[in-house]
Amino acid sequence: ALDVSDLKMHFPGLAAPVLAIDRLHLPAGGRLAITGASGSGKSTFVNAITGLENVTDGTVSWSGTEITRLSTGRRDAFRARNIGLVMQDFHLFPGLSAFENVVLPVRLAQRLLSAERERALKLLAVTGIARPQQKIETLSRGEMQRVAVARALLSRPGVIVADEPTASLDRQAGNEVAELLLQLSAEEGTTLIVVTHDAALAERLGRRINLASGRIEEDSQEVAAQ
Ligand code: ATP
Ligand code: MG
Repeated sequence: ALDVSDLKMHFPGLAAPVLAIDRLHLPAGGRLAITGASGSGKSTFVNAITGLENVTDGTVSWSGTEITRLSTGRRDAFRARNIGLVMQDFHLFPGLSAFENVVLPVRLAQRLLSAERERALKLLAVTGIARPQQKIETLSRGEMQRVAVARALLSRPGVIVADEPTASLDRQAGNEVAELLLQLSAEEGTTLIVVTHDAALAERLGRRINLASGRIEEDSQEVAAQ
């Protein structure tokens, strides 16, 4: 479960906080779409809940682990173990193959086991990457996005956070990536948080919060509860 409380993110030189979330609860296995205009704070929110950036104030907890209290090193370790991240700009490594990109986070943490090697190849096959040894920079954007999804899923994280995973793709490739995220996460009961402008994808996630100037302007769950 994700619990956010009194979260604030300030950046130097900006008077108003870029993010101000009073309270947000998402149960374990829950699904959430985050929408909002460009600059509304969606990526800042992703960075805060995954511990990629220090928050200015407030708390972020994952099933009781308050990551905002952890040291950077422990937070990085927590993220590596528990959260699969698909970043807005992929964060893939040129010079390495698709396969090497998928297994890199695991290989940095420990020796790659043969079961993980097999799962990586299976994920690449499922995501439609026919040649896992192809150099990442020679893949199309849609293929890169699918490699990023495969990488996020490799260590079976309890949580997947994806920042606009379909934004740079055409409709068909976008739908395919969305389908992959929904299917593969459903198979393991994964908590799924997706930043998206895609109304159809947001609809399928069930709950949607809309950010405006860093605040929750609308939460479909609260609207439904009223
Ligand atoms: P997009 O849809 O374009 O990806 P977004 O909703 O993800 O937008 P953010 O990237 O979270 O928006 O940015 C929110 C605001 O915070 C923007 O006004 C941005 O300029 C500002 N911002 C983000 N990071 C920093 C930073 N490191 N220093 C200063 N300002 C920042
Ligand atoms: Mg963004």
